[in-house]
Amino acid sequence: MRKPIIAGNWKMNKTASEAAVLVDELIPAVKDASCEVVICTPYTDLVTAVAKTKGTNIHVGAENVHFEKSGAFTGEISADMLVDLGVEYVIVGHSERRQYFAETDQTVNKRALAALNAGLKVIICVGESLQQREEGVTEELVRMQTKIALRDVTAEQMANVVIAYEPVWAIGTGKTATAEQAQEIHAYIRTILREKFGAAADETPILYGGSCKPSNAPELFAKEDVDGGLIGGAALKAADFLAIGKGFPQK
Ligand code: PEP
Repeated sequence: MRKPIIAGNWKMNKTASEAAVLVDELIPAVKDASCEVVICTPYTDLVTAVAKTKGTNIHVGAENVHFEKSGAFTGEISADMLVDLGVEYVIVGHSERRQYFAETDQTVNKRALAALNAGLKVIICVGESLQQREEGVTEELVRMQTKIALRDVTAEQMANVVIAYEPVWAIGTGKTATAEQAQEIHAYIRTILREKFGAAADETPILYGGSCKPSNAPELFAKEDVDGGLIGGAALKAADFLAIGKGFPQK
């Protein structure tokens, strides 16, 4: 049985004082949620988010992490720094990092390994662009991204891995993949995981991300291999985030 997850990706939104307000709204809103609730916030909001969510059912994550342990990497944040703050999760390989910050499959792998070795849970993002989908290479691309991201990750560490399938054409565009499109790729990702990790792959949560909102979450989450959502825009409104979290049917 995979525990369903909703993970918010706040992106570059909310100052620390604005974050305090949103977390205060979220705490009562999601307190009875039957899924795991994660909020991934900008680095500058992490201290506030961790302090405010102590003793609640909200888990805090970062949106990125550097792969080196320490040293001359101006502007970067290490996995140990996140762990020391009480952060539990980190997103790696988000398509915006790949698109705007030259993230590659290789650096995604290095970040995932650094995070896992430090004891963090990672949410590894994969997904195709519109052009790649139209060219019919979605499966090849997702296979490559998933396999390289998980290079040298052990079966034991897989307990701390979440995969997020995020078709780039659906992120922040209002265009959602249909539930069938999502299920097709989620099931495909699970076969890739099975090739490497066998039956343990059935334990790995695979989230859908891309314009997920209260109105489309129930249909997406009803699919066998869709274990929840990585939520961008809708995670910035407590009511929407809560409503998405209520979209899980009994499977
Ligand atoms: C995301 O940023 O991971 C995301 C899915 O964004 P949105 O929900 O806004 O499309």
